Amino acid sequence: MRVLLVEDDEPVAESLRRGLRRYGFEVDWVATGRDALAAGPTDLVLLDLGLPDTDGLDVCRELRARGDVPIIVISARSDETDRVVGLELGADDYVTKPFGVREVIARIRAVMRRVKPQEKADSGPERYGRVAVDRKAARAFLDAAEVPLTPKEYDLLAFLTEEPGALMSREQIMEAVWDANWFGPTKTLDVHVAALRRKFAGAIAIETVRGVGFRLVVVEDAQP
Ligand code: CA
Repeated sequence: MRVLLVEDDEPVAESLRRGLRRYGFEVDWVATGRDALAAGPTDLVLLDLGLPDTDGLDVCRELRARGDVPIIVISARSDETDRVVGLELGADDYVTKPFGVREVIARIRAVMRRVKPQEKADSGPERYGRVAVDRKAARAFLDAAEVPLTPKEYDLLAFLTEEPGALMSREQIMEAVWDANWFGPTKTLDVHVAALRRKFAGAIAIETVRGVGFRLVVVEDAQP
């Protein structure tokens, strides 16, 4: 599913884009109202109201005038009137900053269920040797069996499998998976890495790179 993200705040956009990708969404990112209105077809619009060139509410009105693409308004404004006006202009839902990626995903799914109840599952799980990650359902499998994971274990696995073989620093991982800039000890990360190593033993290796971070390596299946 393709999401058009209209957001001029780069760190917010970057973290949303990464979070949405982790759950299997394709994200097109634009930073202005003009680019939003010039963008190609999309399945859903995440629309920030405070844009540099135009009021997000005008973008909302224009998008709605053109068709019925689902629109979720995102805004730093806590003003109730924005919410009401946004919904009156045809937005399908509304989230207020600060929000977590998980909350946005939940809103997207709720809106998609309402507008497109028969949406059929595409792509399916992505495979990494014996491991499969179903980013739509947020589930993981070893061989054919589902591996029970806590939400953070899933997020960590989904993040590390985005780029198998790549070295990820502890800071990158903490920021992406725990939605936090992390300056203190990262013991909780080690605990989660240990859990994934145990649960996927023999299928993936998570190598420690001392003083830097971790690297996920897919163990190739020896069987033909
Ligand atoms: Ca903004």
